[in-house]
Amino acid sequence: MRLIFLGPPGAGKGTLALVLMEREKVTHLSSGNLLREAVRRGDPIGREAARCMQSGALVPDRLVTDLVLRRIGEFGKADPFALDGFPRTVEQARVLDEELARAGHAPVDLTVGFQVSPSTMVKRLQGRRVCEACAANYHLERLPPQRPGICDRCGGNLKARPDDRPETVMNRLAVYEKETAPLMDFYRAQGKLRVLSGEAVIEEQYQALLALLKKEGLAG
Ligand code: AMP
Repeated sequence: MRLIFLGPPGAGKGTLALVLMEREKVTHLSSGNLLREAVRRGDPIGREAARCMQSGALVPDRLVTDLVLRRIGEFGKADPFALDGFPRTVEQARVLDEELARAGHAPVDLTVGFQVSPSTMVKRLQGRRVCEACAANYHLERLPPQRPGICDRCGGNLKARPDDRPETVMNRLAVYEKETAPLMDFYRAQGKLRVLSGEAVIEEQYQALLALLKKEGLAG
């Protein structure tokens, strides 16, 4: 199965994608994580990306598309994946479709759109903590680590993301509405969009996702 998780920041895309990876062996590919790795390396892509990410703006299509497509190119032609945070513009979505076809890769099967209220998003982002080493996601109330501040998976340090600060979050939400929400119509027109609520607790959200994937013939 080849999936896109679409939704505003804090909708639970990354958390669900990680659960799906653990239980169904579907690779979680987060464009945000790829960009943060580039920022840490300090290479030219990372330096250009950092300027946009600090303010909550989108990184230019060309940069992020190259990064994500290069990674997808390392996968087998039909390997299952869940894209989290990519595509974020209609242009990125077009290039993704074109490149998968050009490279003889299986196309995207389904886009899952997550809907959440603005107050839920803000609460999720304020409580989010991310492992500096392996990028696993936690939440102080929703998904706390066993030991405060320490990643259960790798023992790395957990930190709040700088762009989860309230002033940047408002900008990210505005950017989402303007640039990314139109993708719902793009995938609806392809007959590939299914919408799920992003409000529930993680296990309930995961079960709803699994039921959807089974109904679509994408999970056994
Ligand atoms: P995320 O981890 O998905 O919340 O992304 C964090 C930040 O990385 C975003 O606010 C953008 O600045 C940048 N970013 C991530 N994915 C993309 C994308 N597909 N297109 C443009 N910018 C992106």
